[in-house]
Amino acid sequence: MAYIVALTGGIGSGKSTVAEGFSKLGITTIDADIIARQIVEPGKPALKKIVQKYGTAILNTDGTLNRAALRERIFSAPEDKQWLNNLLHPLISAETQRQLQIAPGPYVLWVVPLLIENNLQQRAQRILVVDVSPEIQLERTLARDGISRQQAKNILSSQATREQRLACANDIIDNNGSPSDLAPRIAALHQRYLELAATDRITNNE
Ligand code: ATP
Repeated sequence: MAYIVALTGGIGSGKSTVAEGFSKLGITTIDADIIARQIVEPGKPALKKIVQKYGTAILNTDGTLNRAALRERIFSAPEDKQWLNNLLHPLISAETQRQLQIAPGPYVLWVVPLLIENNLQQRAQRILVVDVSPEIQLERTLARDGISRQQAKNILSSQATREQRLACANDIIDNNGSPSDLAPRIAALHQRYLELAATDRITNNE
């Protein structure tokens, strides 16, 4: 299996922007949010189970999962939230493992917004944290998403703190500046990961 670099950071910190930079260097990226959506696509067993529980009212007219309706259902029902987690987490975990195993290249970038919240640090060889100040994070999130300042603040405070993330980091990429500042930082990290992945392959005799 490829050497795994987990990329994490809070909402609006710049994970997708940073991941795009690694993609441009030819690195395979695996996105936890995309996997979470893929496992509930129409025709997938998980969606059938959700429909069995909540009825077709949980679907959009095109047969896809109505995420807002599902969020509403589980919001004030901890048992339902637990049921959903029990259903989805093993599927997400298995699909992530499958994708990581077949990922080509010297290393793979695994984009995991909730790495720390879901205690997944041990699944990666290296943890890269995108760091921004909470103020910048809030402003960029507000500029991108059509949500209120209060909603954005609520999301920020439901996530791990900046300090908790930095405490888990092997590497930190500063995204307080302009997007053009990122390219040389990504290039330097890329070199480092190539070396680390090569050493890892030698150590593991592959
Ligand atoms: P989420 O987890 O919420 O999806 P994210 O961590 O993937 O977010 P991005 O989508 O990469 O974050 O960035 C959030 C917003 O901030 C986007 O609109 C992006 O274009 C913008 N952005 C990212 N980096 C910078 C930067 N250095 N300067 C200005 N804007 C930026």
